Amino acid sequence: MKKHNFTAGPCILAPSVIENLSNAVKDFDGQGLSLVEVSHREKAYEAVHMEALSLFKELLNIPDGYKVVFLGGGASLQFCMIPFNLMNKKSAYLETGVWASKALKEAKLFGEVVTVASSADKNFSYYPKGYSIPKDADYFHITTNNTIYGTEIHEDMDCPVTLIADMSSDIFSRPVDVKKYGMIYGGAQKNLAPAGVTFVVVREDLLGKVDRKIPTMLDYRTHIKEDSMFNTPPVFAIYAMRETLRWVKSIGGVAKMFEMNKAKANLLYNEIDRNTMFQGTAAKEDRSLMNVCFVMTDKFKEKEADFMTFAKENGMVGIKGHRSVGGFRASLYNALPIESVQALVDCMKEFEKKNA
Ligand SMILES: *Cc1c(COP(=O)(O)O)cnc(C)c1O
Repeated sequence: MKKHNFTAGPCILAPSVIENLSNAVKDFDGQGLSLVEVSHREKAYEAVHMEALSLFKELLNIPDGYKVVFLGGGASLQFCMIPFNLMNKKSAYLETGVWASKALKEAKLFGEVVTVASSADKNFSYYPKGYSIPKDADYFHITTNNTIYGTEIHEDMDCPVTLIADMSSDIFSRPVDVKKYGMIYGGAQKNLAPAGVTFVVVREDLLGKVDRKIPTMLDYRTHIKEDSMFNTPPVFAIYAMRETLRWVKSIGGVAKMFEMNKAKANLLYNEIDRNTMFQGTAAKEDRSLMNVCFVMTDKFKEKEADFMTFAKENGMVGIKGHRSVGGFRASLYNALPIESVQALVDCMKEFEKKNA
């Protein structure tokens, strides 16, 4: 039976990406050697690496003055690298979920952290609005998409200080006005590649302003200077990212992705709102296009396990909600076709017919 992959991350990648990746693992560039057994200094790999960096810049329309680097350690390592490189005394954070909380916890190791607002009071089901950002903060940190709770900021905000965004789970899902940000970062395993590579887009003039000493590997300038080849890069994940970026380009770039993502999300949210058995958990105006969280209404609560079984029988994979929200979460990342969303919607309709 066809599987519909709604997993939250690592997640679905385009079929052509998986196909080309598996071919390269068997025979890279017609050399009779695997991608994972050649030197990263090899010309053929270098070409892949440089193309991935330049496609990233091109497709996200990154202006001059910004650098893109590929690193290890996941988005989680950035939680400490950011304050280490960019915070002298004070920073500000918007607390919109577990990832944001983890980020601000690390920043506290290096100075004063102001939590300007938090949505913890309602289990992170909305984006706080109308807060004020201290003008003397070195930067303001946000998480643009809260993977666990299904909330998302839908525009690039104006910020009085340097804006830094964790875009792990919505990167390349929509056009971004990069010049509004000092830095954008994320783990690649939610729209771009398998786990193993982290992307960082940083405005170069922000670097080198802190007083502390920075270990070589933790200094963004090291990786900028060496085109993300200071040490052995995660070649497998970067190859996959190059393939994904080529795929995004072939489809029509991030503007086209955004259109497709809106259509997919609308299809599912409309069914959640229409269906008498289900309800969404996130505030409507903050609903994520990437991670759709929903539960059963009180009247049908005891049917949740039945629906899970029914959905599984119909090929749905990865729709169990995160333990901190419960219910269901369908992740609609770029590579998920609308046919899969339709299949889930059909499941929900059929379940309602049988049970409500
Ligand atoms: C998954 C995720 C992370 C963690 O990424 P790692 O690469 O596993 O460290 C951080 N932030 C957000 C928003 C995420 O979705």
